[in-house]
Amino acid sequence: MAKKKKLPKQLAILDEDLCTGCEACVTVCPVDCIDKSADLTIPGYAMGICSIDLLTCIGCKLCAQVCPWDVITMVPTDQVVMEPKLAALLSG
Ligand code: SF4
Ligand code: SF4
Repeated sequence: MAKKKKLPKQLAILDEDLCTGCEACVTVCPVDCIDKSADLTIPGYAMGICSIDLLTCIGCKLCAQVCPWDVITMVPTDQVVMEPKLAALLSG
């Protein structure tokens, strides 16, 4: 049986409703787990919105520190696991 990755103490949670797609977070992430997607058909979405791969995030906080809009919050992993939507992402 494959061994599950040990999760870091905290994870970066990004509020997609507030992200401006500036990519500041993308450039600093050391494990390259932030992706930007754009949908040119939706107004306000064309600049792109970032999302974080929680299974790869190492909880280093760099993205939260550089986000000019404070859209990224570091949340204790225990709390993330309690959140059904996020837990589903983690269980992959
Ligand atoms: S906390 Fe670190 S590893 Fe996680 S998404 Fe942000 S920059 Fe990447
Ligand atoms: S730094 Fe903040 S506003 Fe900019 S793309 Fe990342 S999450 Fe969005």
